[in-house]
Amino acid sequence: MLIIDQPTVERLLPMEQCIPLMSDAFTALARGEVVLPLRPMMRLPRGLGILGMMPASVEAPRALGIKLITVFPTNHGTEFDSHQGAVLLFEPDHGALIAVLDASSITAIRTAAVSGLATQLLANAGASDLCILGSGVQARTHLAAMLLVRPIERVRIWSRSADHAHAFATAAARRHGITVDAMPTAEDAAAGADIICTVTASSEPILRGEWIARGAHVNAVGASTPHARELDTSAVRGATLFVDCRESALNEAGDFLIPKREGAISDSHIRGELGEVLLERIPGRQSPDEITLFKSLGIAVEDVVAAHHIYQRATADGAGTRVTLGGRRDAAS
Ligand code: NDP
Repeated sequence: MLIIDQPTVERLLPMEQCIPLMSDAFTALARGEVVLPLRPMMRLPRGLGILGMMPASVEAPRALGIKLITVFPTNHGTEFDSHQGAVLLFEPDHGALIAVLDASSITAIRTAAVSGLATQLLANAGASDLCILGSGVQARTHLAAMLLVRPIERVRIWSRSADHAHAFATAAARRHGITVDAMPTAEDAAAGADIICTVTASSEPILRGEWIARGAHVNAVGASTPHARELDTSAVRGATLFVDCRESALNEAGDFLIPKREGAISDSHIRGELGEVLLERIPGRQSPDEITLFKSLGIAVEDVVAAHHIYQRATADGAGTRVTLGGRRDAAS
């Protein structure tokens, strides 16, 4: 069994490889080749956070695994990531545990890669003006993903803490050699943007429909429970909505469920899943003026396909730490 740590995950899962991997994962999901139950989310005492259990089994690539992850939003600004845990990968024919991989890094990379895929599929080809709302881990990986899929020329960022926004802008400019402007309000950051990524832990809207320009594409990533949302009702109602997994969206996505509870939209507002766009079963963007919205919840097939890829590469490279566990009988005994 291999233990694969954070630096090794980051080395073996570069964003440019993760985006096509996520395309494979969503194609498999849309073909019905994935077993993907809704994830149990155990709320922890004292409201500190949640323990999420996210299993999936995939036919192609054949992989079986589960991500176990704690989400402690109050860790932001401390030495701890808000998302910590492991992806456990099993050999699908006999069920042996074959790898334990760092989940903070897999989550950071695969989530942004999925938004990269959604942007590739749905944003206007010339989209060059990027807005990021939030300045944490996902903001960092989302900037990297957006730079890969569209010819970004302008980047504006807003965060609740102006200091965090400025620190992000400075670090991002150094890392990518681009100018990133920290804006005083979310409205200033979003006005006229071609692509908007919402990557905050806010449970109340931080993006309003009236700020979104015609033709924009929005990746709504931060809220992943039925009672939390980052977008107000008009932002959702005014956009064509795509999701990672329809069943998950109908059960978990406050960005969709709150406007639905208000009577502003119905289930038919969801045009479809990313995988259905990939298979051309449903259209993507239909005009340059259409506003497209990808609601990301994050689903286990993303983690399992990413972990499978990392495991294959680690095995080939001799990376990771090998440990022997039980569960395998010696032929002589
Ligand atoms: P971080 O802890 O690194 O960053 C949190 C960000 O949220 C910071 O920018 C912080 O702003 C902002 N924030 C926190 N509370 C509020 C608030 N009340 N109003 C406005 N902004 C707020 O988290 P991550 O970057 O790892 O994750 C961001 C969000 O994305 C989380 O909600 C997380 O659960 C979600 N997520 C979704 C995934 C998916 O697949 N869809 C996967 C992984 C994460 P500031 O620093 O200025 O206070």
